[in-house]
Amino acid sequence: MDLKHTAIPPEFLKILPAGIKFLHKKGKEFLVVEKVHCSKGHSLIVDSVRIHGEPAIELDVLIEDQEGSFFIDAFWGSHAKLYNFMPRLKQSSPLVQAFCPVCKASLVVNRECPMEGCDTDKHIVLYLPGEGNRIFVCARLGCPGHYLSVRNLPQGISESVSNINYFGTQVDEDLFQGI
Ligand SMILES: [Zn+2]
Ligand SMILES: [Zn+2]
Repeated sequence: MDLKHTAIPPEFLKILPAGIKFLHKKGKEFLVVEKVHCSKGHSLIVDSVRIHGEPAIELDVLIEDQEGSFFIDAFWGSHAKLYNFMPRLKQSSPLVQAFCPVCKASLVVNRECPMEGCDTDKHIVLYLPGEGNRIFVCARLGCPGHYLSVRNLPQGISESVSNINYFGTQVDEDLFQGI
């Protein structure tokens, strides 16, 4: 798995919000999510599972009628992830229900996905340390839609960061890209 590089707006780095770190890897610059939690404050970062060398984001998931866990790459814009189960899917891109692994609170909220061809109004929300700061990830499996919502961050910068997406990072990406 090779991360491809996409430019990070320099304005964003000046005001880097808590919970996101700036990392150099092989001479390239990346953003890495290092602190996210559920609405009750439980950390979703799991040190024992690492992707691209960084602790992954763990979610309990329900896809169609199958339960398991996702371990998601913390590199911003990467959609690589590991499963602890092998879902047998009836639909090609079903909605994913996501829950905090500690308290089982739902992480799904109503929010429309702006990605072309995706009509879902559900997102998975990950809470960053700052009040009101959140990451929204489209709940449709296979959709790369994700959005960074940070207080006082100018809209243009927020959109530039949200548009950072890396593709081709995973062997089975046709089925498991997105989220
Ligand atoms: Zn929780
Ligand atoms: Zn979407």
